[in-house]
This record gives sequence, structure tokens and C-alpha cells, in this order.
Amino acid sequence: MRNYTTQMDAARKGILTPEIKTVAEKEHMDEDKLMKLVAEGKVAICANKNHTCLSAEGVGSMLRTKINVNLGVSRDCKDYDVEMKKVMSAVNLGAEAIMDLSSHGDTQPFRRKLTSECPVMIGTVPVYDSVIHYQRDLATLSAQDFIDVIRMHAEDGVDFVTLHCGITQKTIEQIKKHKRKMNIVSRGGSLVFAWMSMTGEENPFYEHYDEILDICEEYDVTISLGDACRPGCLADATDVCQIEELVRLGELTKRAWDHNVQVMVEGPGHVPLDQVAANMKVQQSICMGAPFYVLGPIVTDIAPGYDHITSAIGGAVAAMSGASFLCYVTPAEHLALPDVEDTKQGIIASKIAAHAADIAKGVPGARDIDDRMADARQKLDWEAQYECALDPETARAIRDSRAPEEDHGDTCSMCGKFCAVRSMNKALAGEYIDIL
Ligand code: SF4
Repeated sequence: MRNYTTQMDAARKGILTPEIKTVAEKEHMDEDKLMKLVAEGKVAICANKNHTCLSAEGVGSMLRTKINVNLGVSRDCKDYDVEMKKVMSAVNLGAEAIMDLSSHGDTQPFRRKLTSECPVMIGTVPVYDSVIHYQRDLATLSAQDFIDVIRMHAEDGVDFVTLHCGITQKTIEQIKKHKRKMNIVSRGGSLVFAWMSMTGEENPFYEHYDEILDICEEYDVTISLGDACRPGCLADATDVCQIEELVRLGELTKRAWDHNVQVMVEGPGHVPLDQVAANMKVQQSICMGAPFYVLGPIVTDIAPGYDHITSAIGGAVAAMSGASFLCYVTPAEHLALPDVEDTKQGIIASKIAAHAADIAKGVPGARDIDDRMADARQKLDWEAQYECALDPETARAIRDSRAPEEDHGDTCSMCGKFCAVRSMNKALAGEYIDIL
């Protein structure tokens, strides 16, 4: 029988939970130090008590940067087998979280499959599920309907839920007055905004926040405070709408912590590169060091088809400057539901961004694998290089497809006998260097 509610509650009571122990081991961090960070809310361990196959991870800026993979069926792409392939690919490539954003049909069996078979953190956005769960139009749903869906997801073992609690009736006026180029681009945020506009009522996720906190405390569901007003283009970045919502998210973070409920705060969005670090600092200050979960940031608007790259650039700078958790972006962003290959490309891009940031911010041991790669390259040891590679399959396939015609001492076809590594190894060993 647990004598604590959430990981935060346990940490505040000085109870070393199996999850805190697991995270401390994974992060090579002292258990007491980690427990203090969890107690303060600076690290979230998203671990629903009903997700029993979870291998716990911590999310916090002083830990290794984590990445999330979004998937789920839509009306136009409703093959759950394809989604399961994406799940397997994501787990194998090292994603620490999967968000099921399904928006079609009966979503519960897939959600339950994830929380009964998948060892990574599982997240959802209950507002998406509300319309399809009740099979009723948005305007006919009551505040209680939304809350009941949150409870259902909590019972199903979801580790974190995105809730767009930070927009209110005041936001409706602000969006109209401020005349943003892209208004609201958050799918969940737009649904909440539309519901408030049609019903004239206050945001149910804001108005009934205390009841939601009770549910989250009961199951240990971490709230990922959604940024409904995240900028959808560079022109809207760091504007009044975004910052005003962030201030409210700071207040809601405090209220959750007072309830022993763990929190992450979601962030932008489309942001010019020179504003990324400042956005991280402002969030850390306003939200008192709560883990920041960023969606990109995408640093230019003009690269559809390549937004895994635009977001990896922003993600690396964001994580280096304080973000803890990167939501992957795929080449299909802004264009279509990603397929299995898009998903892979998005994951690899995010892993590169996260790893680059971890090296820059000095996460203990982060650079070890780069040093092993350098040793393998110096020895022209290709198998050892593949072992260190983020995507060994692709690295091997490229080399094999263009192998040198003759043996040049195991160089590659880029330089052949002009291989700098080979020449230096021979020169330093006092050997003759044949080029022709
Ligand atoms: S041939 Fe050129 S690219 Fe290939 S390993 Fe040698 S130095 Fe590197």
C-alpha cells in the first residue's frame, strides 16, 4: 500500500520511491539530490500509478534532455497497426515519451495498449478525445464532460495530460484586439477557445482546476500546461498573448504544486533563433523552474518538408538554455499526418538536438559516446563507428552503397588514398604513405 499520492508527495515526505531510484540510476545522480528536485517541482517524474510497465524517466533541465513522439489515428489515417509500428520505431530509437493524439473512433483500446505494453511515458490531450468519446459536437459538451474524460485517461494509466488551462474569456478579447497573423495554432487551444466562444462560459480547465488537481493527485498524472497561445509564425513570437498566458501558467504551476501535483509547462512554437534563449529564461523565472516542454521551437516559417531541421535548430538552443523536454517535429509538419519514415526522421532530428544540448550544458557522461566515436574514426574502425551512431542502419547503408573500389586501408570513398586519417596514422607510425 502506497503511503504517498504522487512522486512529488513522496519526495516531500522523504520517501524513496522505486521511480525516483530508477531515475537517479539512469541520470547518475545522487538520490537525495534528485528527491529534493522532485519535491521542489524542478524535476517531474511522470508515472501514473496504473502504468505498471513504465521504466521511469525524469524531466528537468539539470537532467538528460528527453524527447516526445506524437502519434495517433485521424479520420484520414486510421490504421492502428501503422501507429503501433511508429511506437516500436520510437521506442527503439530512444524516445522517452509518446503522446497519443488520436482524434478518430474509439481511442481507449489503443491508449490502454500503450499503457499496458509500452515502457515509455504516455501522454494525451483529453480535449481532443472529448468530442469523439461522446460523439457530440463541441458546443454541446459540458464542463463536467471534459473533466470525466480526464478521469478516464487517468484511470487508463496516462502519465501526463496536456490541459489548456491558461486561456480565459479575457483571451478571446485579446486575440481579437491583438490581431495576430496566425491567431491560435494549438489544436487543443483552438478547441477550448471555440468552446468558450460558442458557450460564453469560462474555460472549464481553468474554472474547475481544483477538481482536475484532485484527479491528477489520485492517479499521479503530471499536468502538462498547454500553451494555447504559442506563436504559429515568427511574427507572433513572444507577443502579449503568449506572455500573458505564460504568466497564468506560472500561477497554475504554483497551485498544482500546493496540491502535490507535478507540472510541466509547454512552450513555443515558432520563434526566431535570437529569441529562443530569452523565452527559456522568462519561462524558468515565471514558472519557478518547472520543466519546460517545447514544441520546436521552429526557427523559420519557410521550410515545409524540412521542419524536423528547423525545429532541431531551435530545440538544441532551447534545451541548452533551459528546456527539458523536446516534442519532435517531422518533415510532414504543416503538411500531413507523418508516416513511419517521417516519424523516424523526426525522432533522429530531435535526438540530435537533445544530445547536442546535453553536451553543451555539461550533463555528466553525455559526451562519452562522442569520444568513443572519435576513437573509432581515428582507427578507421567502421563497426565501432556504427555502434556509436544514432542511426547505425543509415550510416551502414550509405557506406556500403558507395564503398571504395579497392582496399585503401579501410578508408571510405570520399577521399580513398587521400584519406587524412590514414595518412596521419601512417606518418605518425613512421610508415611510407602511398597515394598513387
Ligand atoms: S576517406 Fe576521407 S572521409 Fe573517409 S574516413 Fe578517410 S578522411 Fe574521412
